[in-house]
Amino acid sequence: MPDIIQLLPDNIANQIAAGEVIQRPASAVKELLENAVDAGATEIRLIVNDAGKSLMQVIDNGKGMSETDARMSFERHATSKIKNIDDLFQVRTMGFRGEALASIAAVAQVELKSRRAEDELGTYVEIENSAVIKQEPCACPLGTSISMKNLFFNIPARRNFLKSNAAEMRHIIDEFIHVAMAFPHIFFSFTANGVEQFHLEAGSLKQRILQLMGNQHSSKLVQVKEDTDYMNISGFVGKPETARKTRGDQYFFVNNRFIKSPYLNHAVMSAFEGMLPKDCFPLYVLFIDLDPTQVDINVHPTKQEIKFEDEKIIYAFVQAAVKHSLATFSVAPSLDFTL
Ligand code: ADP
Ligand code: MG
Repeated sequence: MPDIIQLLPDNIANQIAAGEVIQRPASAVKELLENAVDAGATEIRLIVNDAGKSLMQVIDNGKGMSETDARMSFERHATSKIKNIDDLFQVRTMGFRGEALASIAAVAQVELKSRRAEDELGTYVEIENSAVIKQEPCACPLGTSISMKNLFFNIPARRNFLKSNAAEMRHIIDEFIHVAMAFPHIFFSFTANGVEQFHLEAGSLKQRILQLMGNQHSSKLVQVKEDTDYMNISGFVGKPETARKTRGDQYFFVNNRFIKSPYLNHAVMSAFEGMLPKDCFPLYVLFIDLDPTQVDINVHPTKQEIKFEDEKIIYAFVQAAVKHSLATFSVAPSLDFTL
């Protein structure tokens, strides 16, 4: 009997791996936006057409890439962000796996333009099915522009699984909001089908919350801020009157990464105990910062689930910090609230 095992060709292996990272247009948007943040951009523009199905493009004014890096960035496990396993537990960047661009290049037609400050000319790279089909010098502004066309053009089964444009747009907007909320000092713009949906001037976190959630909240946000040697918490919780029947406006960030944590959500809700109408949820935007060694972000490819070294301490801290903030404001309650 002959041997039967063979290595998959690179482009197939990349397509399979891409399934974990790029599930839908919104996952690609997240990866591209995070790369722009990691590149130190102060201005980031997102453009999508047909809910990302025909085009997703992110343009940043970050540090750009050299000619070689521009090509290397699409290789699997190619990253400038970590060098060894110890770095993995110290990462401060949003990315570190070196898998996003390789995945993107496996499932869409990609064009990249990038230029560093020290280079007169930038680099243009065109990729299809994980292969570079064109690379040449080009004149371009400082920074990077990556566009992905026709997502899953080469995997019809997956393309058919995409939801309606309205549903995919909703996911894209969620990812956009997560990144824009975490980096209020960066200007963001988001254009869909030629119409600008968001135009977010750089500013404070409070300004960004109001830009994203509406100015009606401006007098209803209570600041949360506690620092200890172990961790810091900062951000805002809405006064009880902001509570809604849906959980939509609740955001937790750990080291600037949006996470989903029913456990920490419970900590916040318990701090509000007795203050909320039944089945209502207050808005909050909270940032926890702690030593990266105290948290494992490498438990899920999308990094939305994380593991804390000591979950109980964090719970108690979040609960205490929010309680403390709510107590300061209710010492001088607004009239309509005391009724
Ligand atoms: P990761 O972000 O995990 O390192 P990616 O596949 O997302 O992996 O990107 C690979 C590399 O390409 C990054 O480490 C970075 O060096 C470079 N890169 C990607 N996007 C940009 C960008 N917008 N500006 C500058 N460099 C970028
Ligand atoms: Mg990345």
